[in-house]
Amino acid sequence: MKLTKQELKEYSLSRGLDLFGVANIERFAGAPPRMHPAAILPEARSVIVVGGRIVRGGWRGIEEGTNWVSYTYHDYHGLLNTFYIPLPLYETACFMEDHGWEAVPYYAGVPETQPTIPPLRQGAVAPNVELAIRIAAVAAGVGEIGWAKVFMTRRFGPRQRLAAIITDLELEPDPLVEPGTICDRCMSCVQGCAPRAIPHIREGKTVKIQIEDTVYEWGDIDLGKCALSYHGGDSSVSPFIHKSFPGWNIDVTQQEMSEEAAYKFGWSLSTSPWRATDEFPGGYIIEGHAQLQKWGVGGSFGIEGSRGCMRSCFDHLEKRGLIEQTFEGGEFIKRKRWILPYKVEARKD
Ligand code: SF4
Repeated sequence: MKLTKQELKEYSLSRGLDLFGVANIERFAGAPPRMHPAAILPEARSVIVVGGRIVRGGWRGIEEGTNWVSYTYHDYHGLLNTFYIPLPLYETACFMEDHGWEAVPYYAGVPETQPTIPPLRQGAVAPNVELAIRIAAVAAGVGEIGWAKVFMTRRFGPRQRLAAIITDLELEPDPLVEPGTICDRCMSCVQGCAPRAIPHIREGKTVKIQIEDTVYEWGDIDLGKCALSYHGGDSSVSPFIHKSFPGWNIDVTQQEMSEEAAYKFGWSLSTSPWRATDEFPGGYIIEGHAQLQKWGVGGSFGIEGSRGCMRSCFDHLEKRGLIEQTFEGGEFIKRKRWILPYKVEARKD
């Protein structure tokens, strides 16, 4: 049954999604087999990439140093990724299948965490195939990847999360967004990043990809430092470590862990129980992080709260008038920003 791109776009936006773009399957020519949409749906003709905004106010509590749970619950891995986006995505997939086109609703997983399993058919791709969702969104003309490796759109700057539908319906692809349309290489993200995970442009550390004739390039992020800070191993952004670890003296900017090692360290500290004692009656290694993860509904939790790559970035883009969405109350960063010493005073008694 006939279904046009315009009808599909209008339907998905009417269900609550904010962003919509289409890539034809040919734009994935350079993708590794384990990240190729056709490895999931061999008859795929198009990949529709959709997005939902992260509200600017989601970061307000962390920016002011007063509330962490709202960001984790709504905007990080909480309801935005597990409910606000998946529901209209699924409704769009149903709408497509009502018109006779197979629609694979794709949840953006984490390719690095997959177990190694041999292929189930000779010559087939091994499970588990995961798209690089940000690159898929570039291929669908939704936006570009900024210097800090965050996906950016003209409407919201770096403030959105993404999902996709892989389909056998052939649709007209959207034009690619020219590199440098949104990210102006200002380096505010580098300055704002607490663990110093983002290289300065002067260092020349970049990652490049090519889609059709267009080359996209961004900073080669130190994902170990990023994960360590974000997921609970950085005392400079966590008052909870200061409460739970008197004497802590770990400077995240000096660590050289892999991303996996950083997750292992940060998650174990943040979510594991520990015997309750008079000194630490809470029953967890870092009680503040553990409670946040428990309340966070989607499983994950955000401590560092994207200080540089998101908050510094959209603050800069808004000031420069490079984001379409504007705010009556003016700039986001209104006060001198807080940052804690990484060294925590030892207990004297
Ligand atoms: S702060 Fe944003 S606009 Fe500036 S370089 Fe970083 S990613 Fe690009």
